Amino acid sequence: MDGLDVAFVEGNVYSRSKEITGRFGGSPQGGIAHSRQTPAVFIFTGEGGEKFGYVDKWDDAEQVFTYTGEGQVGDMTFVRGNAAVRDHGVEGRALHLFKKVSRNGRYRYMGEMQCASTSMVRGPDKYGDEREIIQFQLVRVRAIPEVMPATDVNDLPAGSQFPSPPTSLASLRAAAYKAVKPPGTKITTNTPRSIYQRSRSVVEYVFARAQGSCECCDSIAPFRRPDGTFYLEAHHTERLSDNGLDSPVFVAAICPTCHRRIHHGSDGKATNAALRRAIAAKESLVI
Ligand SMILES: [Zn+2]
Ligand SMILES: [Zn+2]
Repeated sequence: MDGLDVAFVEGNVYSRSKEITGRFGGSPQGGIAHSRQTPAVFIFTGEGGEKFGYVDKWDDAEQVFTYTGEGQVGDMTFVRGNAAVRDHGVEGRALHLFKKVSRNGRYRYMGEMQCASTSMVRGPDKYGDEREIIQFQLVRVRAIPEVMPATDVNDLPAGSQFPSPPTSLASLRAAAYKAVKPPGTKITTNTPRSIYQRSRSVVEYVFARAQGSCECCDSIAPFRRPDGTFYLEAHHTERLSDNGLDSPVFVAAICPTCHRRIHHGSDGKATNAALRRAIAAKESLVI
């Protein structure tokens, strides 16, 4: 099953067994369910969100959701579900948050999330023994500003140089792969903005890789931006949403026609699958 199949409506209530993990894969129990069939990780938070005294909750500005990792006894480590949440961007998986609404396995969809950072806190386990606890800082993907190429003049912070100095494809690529990994220390200021800054590294590299031609149909970009750069759009091949942070293997720079075709065309899925293979081949060739 394709990542573009995984669509939920924010605020709607779904049955975990029938409509979430039962349909798209992942464990029927536990807080974190990472699917083997689809590029998705489903995370479930309780009614009060409490797990041994820890509460999953939004910060005051409703920008950052703190989600406690899985593991009832001993130190939590980045294996299984915890690794899946931290690495969802690197692995091209969408992270979907659900909140429990009833005892009979029904959950409200809170939206697609991005793991911004992780942090460790000390606290008791199931038996009251002190241990390391993983906390994930998640933001809603829709709260992240839309991705634009780094050369967009309106988006440069005040006082910064324009245009940016020429950089090699290899160094742009290295920066892109570095940016996609969540830091192990909590981001404390404007988390959506910080993810946007990191996602720009990915998009900047992907646009440089495309060299002015659509990575889907190979046609030259249909027009140029006011600053002279070629107009292409960033598309995530594994996810329904195009903003957020993902590995360059799962992001393509494509023309508006191919982009519409993938999201709205009768052959959209096949076109997306071909694009995914083309990008994987390209990335395996780039050193
Ligand atoms: Zn195209
Ligand atoms: Zn797209």
